Amino acid sequence: MNSHTLPHVVILGAGFGGLTAAKKLKNAPVRITLIDKNNYHLFQPLLYQVAIAALVPSQVAFPVRTIFRSQKNLTFQMGEVKGIDFDARYVKLDGSVIAYDYLILAAGGRMNFFGVETAERNAFYIKDIKSAIRTRNHLLSMFERASREADADKRRAMLTFVIAGGGPTGVEVAGALAELISHVMRKEYRELDVREARVLLLEAGNALIASYPDELRKATLKLLQKKNVEVLFNARLTDFNGQRVALANGTKVETNTLIWTAGVQAAEVIESLEAERAGSGRVRTGATLQLRDHPEVYVIGDAAYLEDEKGQSLPMLSTVAIQQGNVVADNIKHAIKGQAQHPFRYKDPGLLATIGRNAAVARIWGLSFSGFIAWLIWVGLHIYRIIGIRNRLVVLINWAWDYFFYDNQVRLITRE
Ligand SMILES: Cc1cc2nc3c(=O)[nH]c(=O)nc-3n(C[C@H](O)[C@H](O)[C@H](O)COP(=O)(O)OP(=O)(O)OC[C@H]3O[C@@H](n4cnc5c(N)ncnc54)[C@H](O)[C@@H]3O)c2cc1C
Repeated sequence: MNSHTLPHVVILGAGFGGLTAAKKLKNAPVRITLIDKNNYHLFQPLLYQVAIAALVPSQVAFPVRTIFRSQKNLTFQMGEVKGIDFDARYVKLDGSVIAYDYLILAAGGRMNFFGVETAERNAFYIKDIKSAIRTRNHLLSMFERASREADADKRRAMLTFVIAGGGPTGVEVAGALAELISHVMRKEYRELDVREARVLLLEAGNALIASYPDELRKATLKLLQKKNVEVLFNARLTDFNGQRVALANGTKVETNTLIWTAGVQAAEVIESLEAERAGSGRVRTGATLQLRDHPEVYVIGDAAYLEDEKGQSLPMLSTVAIQQGNVVADNIKHAIKGQAQHPFRYKDPGLLATIGRNAAVARIWGLSFSGFIAWLIWVGLHIYRIIGIRNRLVVLINWAWDYFFYDNQVRLITRE
């Protein structure tokens, strides 16, 4: 068959969901156009390590064209999709249009500041390479500035690091930052008393990593406290002017640094679409991940909202996006053959969060682990999941170096 007569599948987003669907359609009788505004796939679970100066961006990002070098039925286009016409079936890409027979929307998410405008303006966050490097530059600059600041109050504000959000990312950032201070900065900023430095983790509710079992939530709190992280519960942030954090209960903390990890909402392009919506701007899909009025359109990953059998919304996790990518690829193959669509059911592979050196919590095969064993599982799994043998090796060597020599290798302040 002439390849131009094959059904055209357009995939928006080369993240976890889009990449999985594209790979799964490798031998299907379709031609695929994969679109992303970046020319790389980003491994977001390790992005916080860029922000805390442990890894460089090229170790957590991989060029899309390299990934699909040998996939003959796929073309990659780098560009930002600004809109989609569901009735005419095309996406608008940088002044041109691309028509589709099937569309997979896998555009992911962006930070959600829940209406706290001053936090949106002044806080740091970790969602893409740019924001991670900006955070790294700021964190490292705070130590440089504090090292020549004579005013004790100003110095303490520079060395107070506040993290908003007690989910897995907040916990990871807090643990890693506390270690950066106690293991690395302590040795290199001899003119500073790093005991002045504080890491505060704010959680609006009354538990860390709320979706984890109780024993792991308690273990996480203990592990963080052992690393001198101060955890504040029922601490809902209302304002951050760049110099002071204010909480709903009246508490004020003088600080130059707020790192926001408290929430994610659907990507901008997703929010602009005419579709049924649930919380955080995500598109409500049917069980087969299709749009009700446009069954040729599938929405997956962080952009999609779907509930499990218990009525709980599926979490915004890479594991959900990957499993959904596989299912929609199969469903497109079924649609081409005129077969029925299969509903999506999430198979929970377990939960895992690291809190720093030798410290993590995990729930796998119905068992809970915390401490060193969980940390080993975390290291093994993340090395396995990074794309590219070279990246795996480099990350492993970097981590081994940091582990044995108590060092973070990438302490560069680069101007934007
Ligand atoms: C700091 C951090 C840590 C995390 N840690 C974990 C973890 O430990 N475990 C876990 O399972 N999950 C983790 N997650 C969540 C996980 O990364 C997401 O759930 C997952 O990436 C969602 O996959 P996706 O395919 O829906 O979107 P993404 O992977 O976000 O991919 C979306 C893609 O769409 C592209 N895109 C968006 N808009 C446009 C547009 N208009 N035009 C063109 N391209 C566009 C983006 O460039 C991106 O490449 C973490 C997330 C963050 C931010």
